[in-house]
Amino acid sequence: MSKTPISVAYGDGIGPEIMKATLAILEAAGAQLEIEEIQIGEKVYQSGVDTGIHPGAWESLQRTKVFLKAPITTPQGGGYKSLNVTARKAFNLYANVRPAISYSPFVETKHPKMDVVIVRENEEDLYAGIEHRQTKQVYQCLKLITQPGSERVIRYAFEYAKRHGRKRVTCFVKDNIMKLTDGLFHHVFDEVAKEYPEIEHDAWIVDIGAARLATTPEAFDVIVMPNLYGDVLSDVTAQMSGSVGLAPSANMGDHYAMFEAIHGSAPVLAGQNVANPSGLLLAAVMMLVHIGQPDVATKVHNAWLTTLEEGVHTEDVYREGASRVRVGTSQFAEAVIERLGKLPSHLKPVTYTATSNERMSHTESKIASKVEVKQLVGTDLFLDWGPGLPDHLGEALRKVSVDDLRLEVITNRGIKVWPNGLPETFCTDHWRCRFRSASESTVTPTQVVELQRRVLEAGFDIIKSENLYTFDGVPGFSAVHG
Ligand code: NAD
Repeated sequence: MSKTPISVAYGDGIGPEIMKATLAILEAAGAQLEIEEIQIGEKVYQSGVDTGIHPGAWESLQRTKVFLKAPITTPQGGGYKSLNVTARKAFNLYANVRPAISYSPFVETKHPKMDVVIVRENEEDLYAGIEHRQTKQVYQCLKLITQPGSERVIRYAFEYAKRHGRKRVTCFVKDNIMKLTDGLFHHVFDEVAKEYPEIEHDAWIVDIGAARLATTPEAFDVIVMPNLYGDVLSDVTAQMSGSVGLAPSANMGDHYAMFEAIHGSAPVLAGQNVANPSGLLLAAVMMLVHIGQPDVATKVHNAWLTTLEEGVHTEDVYREGASRVRVGTSQFAEAVIERLGKLPSHLKPVTYTATSNERMSHTESKIASKVEVKQLVGTDLFLDWGPGLPDHLGEALRKVSVDDLRLEVITNRGIKVWPNGLPETFCTDHWRCRFRSASESTVTPTQVVELQRRVLEAGFDIIKSENLYTFDGVPGFSAVHG
C-alpha cells in the first residue's frame, strides 16, 4: 500500500507527549503514513504570526489535505486569532464530529450506556466572528445561519448515521425563540430527513434536549446542532463519558479534514508524562478510516479497547477497584502496542470498512430555493439615543417620513416601548425604530436612503439599519413583541 501524506502538528502543553504516543501506536500498527511536520501554536503566535500558523504550514496542509493536530495554547490577550476557527473556515471544515462513548465498568461514569455522536455545525452561527460595539451600552454579535451551511452539516449527519449503522438523527435548536435562524436549521433538518426514510429523526428544543441528554444520554444516537450548542454540549458529553481525555473530534469538509482531541493543551499537566493520549489516538483512528486504511483503524481501536478493559489506565480515568495499573502517557502507548491484534472480550469490538468513511462525496444543495418574489417593505433604523423617554423619541421620529414610509413601532432590546409602551420597561441607549409603508405597499431603496437622510438631518445618530423584506409575501424579519 502506498503511503498517504498527512500534516502533523505536535502543538503545545501536553501536545508533544500525546502526539508522540499516538504516532508510535500508528507506526506499530502498520499505518502507511508520510508525515509532514508543521509548526503551529504558541511559539508561532509569539513570533508575530497572528494566526498561529506559518505560511509554510498552510502549503503543507494544501498539499496533504489531512491534518492530525495536537492541542495548542492560545496566548492570553487580544490580537490573536483562533487557529482552529481559521483552519475550519479556510478549509471549509463544516462538520465537527464528536463521538462520546461510555466504557463502563472499566471507566467510571454515571452514564454506562452512553453512545452519542454530536455533529456540530462548524463555521456559522455566532462563530462567524461579526461583532460590533454600537453604543456606549450595547454590543452585538451577529448570528448567521445559512440554508446551504445548514443543509451540508445536516446531510453529513444523516450520511454519517447511514454509514455507521446508526438508527436515529436528532436535531437541537431554539426555534421557539429564534424563529428565523434556528427555524431555518429545523426546516432544513425536516427536509433532509425525508431523503433518509430508513433513519428515524426527531427535533428537540435545545434546553430541554440538553437536560435530557445530561440525564438520559442513552435516549440519543446522532445529534446535529448549530455551532454554539454543539460546542458546549460536546464537551459536556465528553466529560460525562468519564474524562475529556477520551474524546476525539473530526473536522470534516468536502476536500480537507482535521483530526484532534477535543481537549486543550492542559498546561498544568505538560511535561509530566501523565496525560491521556486516548482523545488524539481515537481522532487518529477516524483519520485512518478517512484516508482509506480501515483495517489499521480497526486494529488500533480494538487494541485500545483491550488496554482499557484490562485496567491499564492513565491518571484521569484511574479508579481503585476498577483499574489495575496506573500508567503514564508513554507506558499507556506501549500497552496499546503490546495488544495490537487482540480483540476486547467485554467491550464491543469495532470493525471499520471502506464504507465507514467519513468523507462526503457531494454536498450540493438538493433543497430547491422556491422564492419567486423578494419585496422591500420597510426598514429598521437603529439609533444611539438618550437618555430620554420613548415617547419623546416617538414624537420626534413621527415627524420624519418619506411619502407613506412612516414610523410604526420602537423597541428597546426587542421590547416594544412606543406606541403604548409600559413605563416600567428598562431602556438602554440602543433603539430599534421600524418604518413601514402605512398603506402596506412596497417601498423603494431610494425612499429608505431618503428616510435615513431626513432622520440624520433631524439630529439622530443611526448606528445601523436593516431592510425589511418579504419573500413570496412571507415576512423575512421577526415580529415585534410587547
Ligand atoms: P484543557 O482541555 O487543556 O484542560 C482542562 C483540564 O482537563 C486539564 O487541567 C486536565 O485536568 C484535563 N485534561 C485535558 N486533557 C487531558 C488529557 N489528555 N489527559 C488528562 N487530563 C486532561 O482546557 P484549558 O485548561 O481550559 O485550556 C488550556 C489551553 O488549551 C488554553 O490555551 C486553550 O485556549 C487551549 N485549547 C486548545 C484547544 C485546541 O487546540 N483544540 C482546545 C481547547 C483549549
